[in-house]
Amino acid sequence: MTTIWRASVLTIFPDMFPGPLGMSLAGKALSEGKWSLGLTDIRDFATDKHRSVDDTPAGGGAGMVMRADIAAAAVDAARAAMPAETATLYLSPRGRPFTQARARDLASGPGGILLCGRFEGSDERVLEARDIEEISIGDYVLSGGELGAMVLIDACVRLLPGVAGNEVSLGDESFAEGLLEYPHFTRPRDWEGRSIPEVLLSGDHRKIAEWRREQAEKLTKTRRPDLWDRKSKG
Ligand code: SAM
Repeated sequence: MTTIWRASVLTIFPDMFPGPLGMSLAGKALSEGKWSLGLTDIRDFATDKHRSVDDTPAGGGAGMVMRADIAAAAVDAARAAMPAETATLYLSPRGRPFTQARARDLASGPGGILLCGRFEGSDERVLEARDIEEISIGDYVLSGGELGAMVLIDACVRLLPGVAGNEVSLGDESFAEGLLEYPHFTRPRDWEGRSIPEVLLSGDHRKIAEWRREQAEKLTKTRRPDLWDRKSKG
């Protein structure tokens, strides 16, 4: 039996989903059963009548912290419903940066359990005790992990077999080979005094491929010297 790729999201705002994941490429694939979305309301694991999941930070300071016992109960329930090798990730600005390589790695597995933080974040002990990896979608602070989870899911889902219509284009796009993608052009041929580079109209596929490669390298060197360095070092 083959199981379909599944994102299991733990959140106090399940109504935020599928949100943008219900539209376009990911939405179509979701309705066609090419991936599935599980939602767990962390509040369902609260033990008081107010369904509270947070408490004041030990040591004082601003804000609230997600309780370890409640987050752990939600993680344990999600893990019980997923294959043992499923990655459990906590969306966090302190995490290792999410990359296209990580998206490829996750897309080739059974899916992911995604814990969305709120408030000041989660009690550290649950991350340690459940061996949960922190993952960041960028060097800025969001108000919750849900948008981060959506970004991660979208990046994985479009890599699943049969989801992106033209799978050839996945091999060409930014980061596929450690480079940013070359520029694109379409009709009209002349627009506001700007024309399409002649080589793209030549019909010479070898020259077009060479030109695209040069452009991709030039763009990467100037815009993302960090990527270029990494690529040059192999
Ligand atoms: N106090 C935390 C800090 O300074 O590192 C920030 C907490 S933030 C207001 C609330 C939640 O948003 C986090 O627990 C995390 O789940 C999510 N979040 C914020 N920025 C993120 C980012 N760059 N990547 C992934 N998740 C993020």
